[in-house]
Amino acid sequence: MNLNLTGKVALVTGSGRGIGRSIALAFACAGADIACLSRSEANSKQTADEITALGRRAIPYAVDVADSKAVDAAVEKILADFEKVDLLVNNAGITKDGLLMRMPEADWDCVIATNLSGAFHFTRALSRSLLKQRSGKIINITSIIGLIGNAGQANYAASKAGLIGLTKSTAREFASRGITCNAIAPGFIETDMTHELKEDLRQKLLDKIPLARFGKPEDVAAVALFLASSAADYITGQVLTVDGGMVM
Ligand code: NDP
Repeated sequence: MNLNLTGKVALVTGSGRGIGRSIALAFACAGADIACLSRSEANSKQTADEITALGRRAIPYAVDVADSKAVDAAVEKILADFEKVDLLVNNAGITKDGLLMRMPEADWDCVIATNLSGAFHFTRALSRSLLKQRSGKIINITSIIGLIGNAGQANYAASKAGLIGLTKSTAREFASRGITCNAIAPGFIETDMTHELKEDLRQKLLDKIPLARFGKPEDVAAVALFLASSAADYITGQVLTVDGGMVM
């Protein structure tokens, strides 16, 4: 199976930390050059420095994915810096949990704007260049919460379910040009996003995972690498769950 990404350029959003950082490093280890993007300059630079140390080319960008004008400008700069983008990973995401009944409008808007509109902004901004080059792979990081919902996460679940609809529509629109679009739905992965959870809730979650452990960012990165490689050329519009068997 060929997982080599030599000669490819990948744009990974939210690659300053967590799952995005792991995906960026996995792609770089497979030979890709990486546009590392996150909110903060410091975090994206840290990942870019790690990749440069691996001998690949990496440039950090600090952009709010919810800001469509900023995304358009960033994509223009990235295309000027790297000349092309072959692989787009829409990974940047946030949570602002709370019961629906009391959820402030701002918490709803902010999560949808980041998790769902952010992916739309990047896919749209890169679509002309991808369609012209007649190749490319888009990977959207959704969540099992987008498949099954979760009390206290109506905004997050809606954003992640929306991302699945965006994935399937993109797959259908871009397929005739040889571009695939798939989603990965992680379960509970150990990152800053989940470190805040209280011990009793962690134990309850663990009881629901057949493989009896939380996931690591590398578990998700391995599947992203597969989907980004030529080994997955005949897969599009799919949602691959990486959750230790939580949802089946
Ligand atoms: P982290 O909180 O560890 O990292 C999130 C990354 O996204 C950071 O690099 C952050 O930037 C970036 N980011 C957040 N908001 C924006 C924004 N508006 N513009 C640009 N970048 C932004 O999260 P995870 O690694 O855990 O999660 C990554 C993805 O995986 C998310 O989409 C999440 O929903 C999804 N996921 C995670 C699961 C888990 O259990 N951890 C489970 C299922 C899905 P900065 O570093 O600058 O702050």
